[in-house]
Amino acid sequence: MEVAPACLSLLCVCLLGSLAADWEFVDTNFTYLDDVIDYKDPCKAAAFLGDIALDEDDLRMFKNVHSSPVNYTDSVNGSSSTESVRRTRAADRQTLRRWRRAATSRPERVWPDGIIPYVISGNFTGSQRAIFRQAMRHWEKHTCVTFTERTTEESYIVFTYRPCGCCSYVGRRGSGPQAISIGKNCDKFGIVVHELGHVIGFWHEHTRPDRDEHVSIIRDNIQPGQEYNFLKMEPGEVDSLGEVYDFGSIMHYARNTFSRGVFLDTILPRYDVNGVRPPIGQRTRLSKGDIAQARKLYKCARCGDSLQESAGNFSSPGFPNGYSAYAHCVWKISVTPGEKIVLNFTSMDLFRSHLCWYDHVEVRDGFWRKAPLKGRFCGDTLPDPMISTDSQLWIEFRSSSSWVGKGFSAVYEAICGGEVKRDSGQIQSPNYPDDYQSNKVCVWKITVAEGFNVGLSFQSFEIERHDSCTYDYVEVRDGGSESSPLLGRFCGYDKPDDIKSSSNRLWLKFVSDGSVNKAGFAANFFKEMDECSRPDNGQCEQRCMNTLGSYRCACDPGYELAADRRSCETAACGGFITKLNGSLTTPGWPKEYPPNKNCVWQLVAPIQYRITLVFDVFETEGNDVCKYDYVEVRSGLSSDSKLHGKFCGAEKPEVITSQHNNMRIEFKSDNTVAKRGFKAHFFSDIDECSKENGGCQHECVNTFGSYSCQCRSGFMLHDNKHDCKEAGCDHVVNSVSGTISSPNWPDRYPSKKACTWILSTTPGHRIKLVFNEIDMEAHLECAYDHLEIYDGRDVRVPTLGRFCGTKKPSPVVSSGNKMFLRFFSDNSVQKRGFEATYGAECGGSLKAEVKTKDLYSHAQFGDNNYPGGSDCLWVVSAEKGYGVEIIFQVFEIEEEADCGYDYVELYDGADIKSPRLGRYCGSGAPEEVFSAGDSILLKFHSDDSINKKGFHVRYTSTKFQDTLHASK
Ligand SMILES: [Zn+2]
Repeated sequence: MEVAPACLSLLCVCLLGSLAADWEFVDTNFTYLDDVIDYKDPCKAAAFLGDIALDEDDLRMFKNVHSSPVNYTDSVNGSSSTESVRRTRAADRQTLRRWRRAATSRPERVWPDGIIPYVISGNFTGSQRAIFRQAMRHWEKHTCVTFTERTTEESYIVFTYRPCGCCSYVGRRGSGPQAISIGKNCDKFGIVVHELGHVIGFWHEHTRPDRDEHVSIIRDNIQPGQEYNFLKMEPGEVDSLGEVYDFGSIMHYARNTFSRGVFLDTILPRYDVNGVRPPIGQRTRLSKGDIAQARKLYKCARCGDSLQESAGNFSSPGFPNGYSAYAHCVWKISVTPGEKIVLNFTSMDLFRSHLCWYDHVEVRDGFWRKAPLKGRFCGDTLPDPMISTDSQLWIEFRSSSSWVGKGFSAVYEAICGGEVKRDSGQIQSPNYPDDYQSNKVCVWKITVAEGFNVGLSFQSFEIERHDSCTYDYVEVRDGGSESSPLLGRFCGYDKPDDIKSSSNRLWLKFVSDGSVNKAGFAANFFKEMDECSRPDNGQCEQRCMNTLGSYRCACDPGYELAADRRSCETAACGGFITKLNGSLTTPGWPKEYPPNKNCVWQLVAPIQYRITLVFDVFETEGNDVCKYDYVEVRSGLSSDSKLHGKFCGAEKPEVITSQHNNMRIEFKSDNTVAKRGFKAHFFSDIDECSKENGGCQHECVNTFGSYSCQCRSGFMLHDNKHDCKEAGCDHVVNSVSGTISSPNWPDRYPSKKACTWILSTTPGHRIKLVFNEIDMEAHLECAYDHLEIYDGRDVRVPTLGRFCGTKKPSPVVSSGNKMFLRFFSDNSVQKRGFEATYGAECGGSLKAEVKTKDLYSHAQFGDNNYPGGSDCLWVVSAEKGYGVEIIFQVFEIEEEADCGYDYVELYDGADIKSPRLGRYCGSGAPEEVFSAGDSILLKFHSDDSINKKGFHVRYTSTKFQDTLHASK
């Protein structure tokens, strides 16, 4: 399901490659009967303007500017790395004309009644779904736009993941679904709010016809070929939506969007606001201007509110002092799906008329003005309390004349649980995706049509964890009551498996206690039937496997599913192999493997033999997640035997040796992206170690055709190659992390022994030593047996501590990238010794000298990308009177317009209160930086997603203090 190659064939360059890694896709079984929605795909648009997909109509509005083909690029916030670059099909790219302001001027593009039905396609994770919901609720909170899960509406949006990364059309396309593509790196709240802005009908703020009065475009800094992204619209029929230019708009580009370099501004405000140059390009929340524009575009009622809290109140304007004529207010109450709303009028005093013809308040059971009417009220009779059917109520107030009565006031409260009689729907814990409240108990009784079962499928699940789920939990029962058979009680962070009832009723209970609240759960329920029980066996030739909401066909051993996913054909791969050696290849080798293959090889060797598998060539779709195409290797013959590894991508797996005398190799390909597959050979070898340890005194290691003995730390192999004798024990350790231990660990150390270790790590990193265990002869001053640790390469540097006894020392951290350890035992009392783990710690104080020194972002620089969740501070200081010069040799950090995710910050001084020289990400660090004083602070932060190569800095002290901060 990786989309890159398909995308290339569409003439758009995708940079998605490794990014797909973090995506969790649904099991491919489900795609079988899942309707593939034939939506309008923004990635197949005629052209792009930033992340906006343009259709032919839009293009017709460009007139007479470009006569040659232009590259159209997609970018949400300047981070074009996640988005596509696409060539336009036609040569007639023309200037924009006839648009009013930054909002669409075409009435058919405005969603009728502000209602935008949506579908979230199946391949998003629970937390991504939660972000989409939060972004939609953000728009709903501040405007009269309503997002509603699509039922039968003809036109709707589909959240999906398309090759163009983050992109959308502007406004409603009509006659069918349209996609809003949310790629990796766009699955952030602010970016989704921005993309929804396009859906609602907004262009980018800086393309307004009047923008030249407010911003300057710095054309020299724009990436060649991207100039068209800064075209402005012509004031053809500017009308009076009339909002002022909004620097703070979430629809505004950042100052360096489409820049040739992170520091080069492409768009800048022309004037100060309140004494400062206004920041642009925020992706945090809707600005006042965004809200005002949207409210105008959708003609939202002037008064009223969107009420999203679980309880609240509202009243007619002016309450309790009367209202004026021609008031029109709309309140939309929207609580979490799965909750209902109890509405209580607490005061009612409106002008009375026949059928409440004139002044009235109407309550409707749903999210819009045409939802079923629950009541229309006027006069002074308090209506009875009302309960919504679903999680939304619409309340509309109108007056015809001014009235000196009080008006009305009302309170509402969300209640959870209840009877749900429907064939499908969604249930969420109260307040989802925000944390659920304490002390909640909700019981849902779901009933679907007679003759079906109830299927329940959790989309996301996060409930306080406890071994027996005694605090917060979800309980599911097979039937209609609390006494029905228990199907499961769930808590923690793992999504429960799909659940199916045996009748058309399911009972669901959510309980939270007084503490620790989490996001809760979201689940879909639907009527479920066993397709395999139909007389045609689900049209499966051999086996039919029912799944929740769907089913799939399967084949007997030796057969595999044909392309129609229903019939079976003789398998062209896999098999049962008892030869001692041989080779295996994926079907079609050396050409690309076919789609939807599932091959299983079972290798069996004689008892006491081990099977070794060596991959010679390896190339499959995928990367870290191995969800699409993969190879699994197991010790044993069944699909639940011990797993050695699940492999995919282009990296050759290491040599694998089975635990016993059999091995299972499974290859699976999905229906997209084929690669060459693999070629491997295997051989079986008798394991001499499996019998009496091969005669080895310490450890026996089996090798092909032979075996060898190894000795524990502090010992070396005797000439007889089996026994071990004491050895010298001076160690030089250069690996980034590992374990060291006293001689003969975990047995007693020998007497009269002195051992040393020199640990070194990557420049710019410190060594952290964590004791797992210590057990040495005790003495107050550790005068007898002891371990001494020095802060450098030998005993001539300061000591970090001297340890003995059994009390585990706190972790020891060196100040530089070297640490020296010395273990000593005297001639009496032997104990077990110590074992400690060492690793690299980033940050610390570094001394700049005339000689150039190195600093790396992370200890495994060059071998691995930097780790997520890093926060490192380095202070590089020179001697007094000297400055520090730092030179970036390599710089590759996750890119984002504001460097909001991963970044490097430089400060001109020894702490973060010093003046900040800049924040950098992408590939845009300055080459050289000079301190004004005698030190520079370098801060490195990485978030939990997307890791890049990192950076390599060289630093030296400069003889003459340079007042230049950054030369470039
Ligand atoms: Zn945009």
